[in-house]
Amino acid sequence: MAEKKKFQAIKGTRDLLPPETELWDRVEQTARKVFGTFGFGEIRPPMIERTRLFERAVGSDTDIVSKEMFNWVDDPDLSGAMTKIRDEMRKTETLPAVDGTAAHAMLEKQARLGAFNNLAERVRVALRPEATASVCRAYIEHEMHALPQPVKLWYTGPMFRRERPQKGRYRQFYQIGAEVLEMVPPNQDPTKNIGKDAAVDAEVIEMVMAFFARLGLESVKLEINSIGDRDCRPKYVELLRAELLKVKEKLGPDSQRRIETNPLRVLDSKLESEQGIIAGLPRIVDHLCTNCAAQYAEVKRQLGMRGVPYAENWRLVRGLDYYMRTTFEITALGLGSQNAVCGGGRYDGLVELLGGQPTKGIGFAIGEDRLILSLQEAGKGGTPQSRDIFVAWMGERAQAAAILAAQKLRAAGFRVELPPVEQKFGRALGQADKLGARYALILGDDEIATGQWTVKTLADGSQAKMSEAQFLEMVARSKTLSS
Ligand code: ATP
Ligand code: MG
Repeated sequence: MAEKKKFQAIKGTRDLLPPETELWDRVEQTARKVFGTFGFGEIRPPMIERTRLFERAVGSDTDIVSKEMFNWVDDPDLSGAMTKIRDEMRKTETLPAVDGTAAHAMLEKQARLGAFNNLAERVRVALRPEATASVCRAYIEHEMHALPQPVKLWYTGPMFRRERPQKGRYRQFYQIGAEVLEMVPPNQDPTKNIGKDAAVDAEVIEMVMAFFARLGLESVKLEINSIGDRDCRPKYVELLRAELLKVKEKLGPDSQRRIETNPLRVLDSKLESEQGIIAGLPRIVDHLCTNCAAQYAEVKRQLGMRGVPYAENWRLVRGLDYYMRTTFEITALGLGSQNAVCGGGRYDGLVELLGGQPTKGIGFAIGEDRLILSLQEAGKGGTPQSRDIFVAWMGERAQAAAILAAQKLRAAGFRVELPPVEQKFGRALGQADKLGARYALILGDDEIATGQWTVKTLADGSQAKMSEAQFLEMVARSKTLSS
């Protein structure tokens, strides 16, 4: 006998089930509505892209790309060729090192390795760990610079990162994000228009906050920072590195390593013992160039005009290479240490880095899983009524009437449960109760003969007789009241 095997969802992935999926739907519909009012259209990029796209955009030295990406070689023809090269490589490895042939074998091996890597470069694809890179790729591929600028796009969908799963952290998780892209006209100095950029930044932030407010998200905190640009950030990073080297011995191993790889990330450290040291480090606000400082000041003024409360956090840095100047993060209620529900910032230059024209960009990504968790913690999840009406019927004529009634009710938008076989009314009512139905419509010989339906309101157990028209009117009224 075949072994009975129980399959389970892969670690870090999960099934989203009803009724929770109704909340997911509500969140996504709200995003569509709110972002639509700001002029954003939806983009649905593919979930797989060339690995190289993410290496280029997000950065090879980031955790996302170096540790967390799901990627593989995907080309049936080339993967055959690659297997052949690999097999030959294996053979050379087991070749006895005869005098004089060793050097030759080594060269051959290197050539094969080179060919192998070349092929690998061309055929590696990845499950997207984020979508900004895809949106920029699409902007270039579809020549969106020729459309009226700026181009405003939003998206929702799964992202994939090989992380250690925990509350609010999954390997397949969902993001809702938006991007504003605007080609810089030729001959225009991209450092100009600081006021305009700041207004765009502020409006994007205002939009996320409006979305969260519409959902009733609680304890929403917006933190902002400026991380400078190509001009001033490198100088600040060097200064920071020099200061960190002075206190290297007092830092933990992660931060010690980051002094070399990415000193900005040290500011992100949650390690208790490092907090005192970090508090005394130089702050980027004091080292911004004139343009960055002016833009940062203007973003704050713009947020003020829009009535968006914020806190400045000089330690806010982001784990992706493409950000510059304005960066922000939003936290919400009840998420423990994974409390960031949204991260975003400006990324002028990313489109150009991916082979497009000089283009400005600003965007954000909301962690939808965490957003949902927070809404549930705040009691905003809601347990939706799973059925409006349960149609209990007995007898052949009653079934025909029940089918017609269900058709009418469903066409009017009610959620109707129609049992496939007749049930004793007692049992049917029990089931209606379990399903959380609001009304049970009872159709038996009596009701068919008189044309008077029996309607039971499950919440209080009250029962009444009425005509079909009266019933339709009653449920329609109760629906308007409840929604
Ligand atoms: P974190 O510091 O929490 O790892 P991040 O900086 O990696 O976040 P971003 O790449 O900026 O996150 O993604 C934006 C948002 O997506 C985050 O603020 C978070 O809400 C959500 N997010 C990121 N990674 C995950 C994950 N593995 N599971 C669930 N949500 C995630
Ligand atoms: Mg992360």
